[in-house]
Amino acid sequence: MKPRGRGTFGRPSQRISGYSAAALVRHGLGDVTDWPRAWRRHDLEPSYDVVIIGGGIHGLAAAYYLASRHGISKVAVLDKGYLGSGGSGRNTAIARSNYLTPEGVAFYDRSLKLYENLSVELDFNIMFSQRGHMTLAHNDSSLRTMRWRAEVNKLQGIDSEVIDPDEVKRLAPPLDVSTGTRYPILGALYHPPGGIIRHDAVVWGYARGADRYGVQLHQQTEVLGIETSSGQVRTVRTTRGDIATRTVLNCTAGWSSLINDMVGVRAPITTSPLQAAVTEPVRPFLHAVVVSGSLHVYVSQTARGELVFGASVDPFAQYSMRGSLDFIEGLAADVLALMPGLSKMRLLRQWAGLCDMTPDYSPIMGATDVDGFLVDIGWGTYGFKAGPVSGEQMAQLIATGGAPALIEPFDIRRFLAGRLVGEKGAASVGH
Ligand SMILES: Cc1cc2nc3c(=O)[nH]c(=O)nc-3n(C[C@H](O)[C@H](O)[C@H](O)COP(=O)(O)OP(=O)(O)OC[C@H]3O[C@@H](n4cnc5c(N)ncnc54)[C@H](O)[C@@H]3O)c2cc1C
Repeated sequence: MKPRGRGTFGRPSQRISGYSAAALVRHGLGDVTDWPRAWRRHDLEPSYDVVIIGGGIHGLAAAYYLASRHGISKVAVLDKGYLGSGGSGRNTAIARSNYLTPEGVAFYDRSLKLYENLSVELDFNIMFSQRGHMTLAHNDSSLRTMRWRAEVNKLQGIDSEVIDPDEVKRLAPPLDVSTGTRYPILGALYHPPGGIIRHDAVVWGYARGADRYGVQLHQQTEVLGIETSSGQVRTVRTTRGDIATRTVLNCTAGWSSLINDMVGVRAPITTSPLQAAVTEPVRPFLHAVVVSGSLHVYVSQTARGELVFGASVDPFAQYSMRGSLDFIEGLAADVLALMPGLSKMRLLRQWAGLCDMTPDYSPIMGATDVDGFLVDIGWGTYGFKAGPVSGEQMAQLIATGGAPALIEPFDIRRFLAGRLVGEKGAASVGH
């Protein structure tokens, strides 16, 4: 299962001009019309050391770290659509680490740390804005869970505390914190390092970075089957031909059960749509990200001024990515219960993506009973923020053959052993 590194460890194998003010001026003033492509097209080769299925943040990050940290660059990332066409290009880009379990907190905190340096590492502005993340409590039991979370968080050095309604109002003035409302705000779990990111930029940055280190990115390349013999992965069948490989990483999120089925790996995953919506842009007035678990709604304001709204998954499993009127009506009512002042704002559009839900709201990462078939799935509604850490850790697992401590708790065998990592209280709405 251990592919050999061939690239030059720590040094890009491709020279691509960096993004900088000087490069912009050079291109603008000079007679340069051929802006370099961010990543190149390739013919499909007959074999690769590692084949990664899924060109979202997880697949691209794993490819990037395999090549940049471990010198394993004979890697193909295959996507049936375009890079970022799954959840990675459809999410609401919230990042935070104030989870409920010690395993979850440590894992997501590592991701935040990687995000903090990612613009520099990838030479791509991912617009990570750590503007604070606030989860509102509307009743005593929510407040109790938040105190619990704050304590777990603080024990692991995470900046997270319960604040009172006055502080909530100070941090998010449009919120109605009066006591006479249907869902009064009794307090909130406040997490200053949480915030939002430009999700497309993260996808493009990892893609460009992986390409620089010699990884091949193949769009419009659908995986149709995976052949094994003697319990070992041998061949990946695609719409563009067969690939011989001994290592396959499944990073297909909402479609992951279909890929698992190709090798007979069973995981307790159901796929449900998750919808979101965005308004027309207005002047900045909401700094923090605001989440209400009871109302199943959250809102943030982008750098362009649009309000981005999200909710919890649709209440039925399916593979359709259509938006629904039912969702938008419910969302509008819930948002107005929190912020009545928004009643005149116009929605610009709504969309949906697919989420691979697990019973404990934690991911499934690591090796499986099929040699050479690894999974990085079960990302539900919360996997975008985990892209950097899961890419880093899965790359280490593939390169060394041993699961790093940070991802051991998320092993697929936990469902047989009854070792669930229960994150529902911290992951079902706030993402
Ligand atoms: C509306 C919405 C809001 C969200 N908000 C947040 C948030 O605020 N914060 C957060 O952390 N997370 C959020 N998420 C979840 C997050 O987007 C996902 O968990 C994450 O993007 C999953 O990334 P991925 O790379 O694993 O999968 P994806 O980005 O879904 O990529 C999987 C890829 O696999 C490809 N594929 C599938 N089948 C095949 C095949 N047979 N052959 C080849 N390719 C195939 C698909 O085309 C797709 O591009 C949200 C999700 C949605 C839908």
